[in-house]
Amino acid sequence: MVVPSKPVLIVGAGFSGTVHARILAEAGFHVDVIDVRPHIGGNAYDYVDANGIRVHAYGPHLFHTKNRAVADWLRGFGDFVAYTHKVRARLPSGAMAPLPINLDTVNLVFGTHYETAEQVAAHLARVALPIANPANAAEYLYANIGRDLTDLFFRPYTKKMWQFDLEDMATSVVKRIPLRSDRTDTYFADDEIQMMPRDGYTAVFQRLFDHPGITVTLNTAFDTAMLADYRFCFNAMPIDAFFDYAEGELPYRSIRFHTRTATDAQAQGWSVTNFTDSGPQTRETRWDCLPHHIVNETGRRTVTAEEPCDYRDNNRERYYPVKTADNRFQEIYVKYQSLAEKLSTEISFIGRCGTYQYLDMDQVINQSLASARRWLATQS
Ligand code: UDP
Repeated sequence: MVVPSKPVLIVGAGFSGTVHARILAEAGFHVDVIDVRPHIGGNAYDYVDANGIRVHAYGPHLFHTKNRAVADWLRGFGDFVAYTHKVRARLPSGAMAPLPINLDTVNLVFGTHYETAEQVAAHLARVALPIANPANAAEYLYANIGRDLTDLFFRPYTKKMWQFDLEDMATSVVKRIPLRSDRTDTYFADDEIQMMPRDGYTAVFQRLFDHPGITVTLNTAFDTAMLADYRFCFNAMPIDAFFDYAEGELPYRSIRFHTRTATDAQAQGWSVTNFTDSGPQTRETRWDCLPHHIVNETGRRTVTAEEPCDYRDNNRERYYPVKTADNRFQEIYVKYQSLAEKLSTEISFIGRCGTYQYLDMDQVINQSLASARRWLATQS
């Protein structure tokens, strides 16, 4: 008699868990996916609200990548439409400045009338501070765009976002935002592929899970006793929680969402407005300015503002791992990583909370495709 092989357990129905589930199921494995939340999709989950507007429950998710293989793979699970994301920053004067900083931003802030990228680059070179080896986000920005632009666009925003000063944050966090001297006014111009699922992210997750080898169970927390029933576990839960915080807590920033209804049907030319003031909110999203986000026309528009906070003050909802200039939280993570390596159980930690990384969707998908395929190669 052939003994059927044990299934694989996947903890977390966000991108990392879902991609692993799909790849393993397509290779013939039975996969059980559990998630503690009442929905699939992790932080990419979206839904249509009472205004008929598609809302991303955990803040705007904009898919952008240089990785064609990742985009092509994802396109296999839904219709995607081209969408080029634009952001404006609201200045104290009320003016809306293009972000990332570009030629028009510089003219708006300094009252200059530059016409060419060379003029703007020369201006930035003049105001930049001579810092040879920037050791933190403040030094990196000062060395590239000087004090005025740094303190206007980055200082208050970073403080309210992270509860740390720019001096305490890793350069990688602000390097997510390019610094430009031409007129490019799109947020992810460096990424050739930018797209949005036509029917929302949740529909993409439904397609990804639509495979006879996959069973999804929601509202279910992981318990180590479950491992006995499985040949392997890919686990996207917070790695510190798995080890009962033995090495201390890994901090995360969370977001409180404040939603209002607007009745002006007139769409603006951008979807996200960042706030440069030092109030509690970082930005707001007008969902109707994203493609196919008016699902039922009611004349009402949903607008969501974001107020960052410590995850312990928001039902332990973990959104952003924190990367300080001294790397102290990554050092705690490394301790958990070595505990994970010593586990006798067949288990691998995946995704944003399993590996304590600030990851974009394309990076999570790319890592998960590679991890699932590597694991398959070890199975005979
Ligand atoms: N940032 C800022 N001002 C802005 C936009 C971004 O200071 O108007 C800094 C801030 O520290 C933020 C980081 O750059 O956390 C990365 O911004 P991004 O827009 O990539 O954040 P995400 O969309 O991932 O929340």
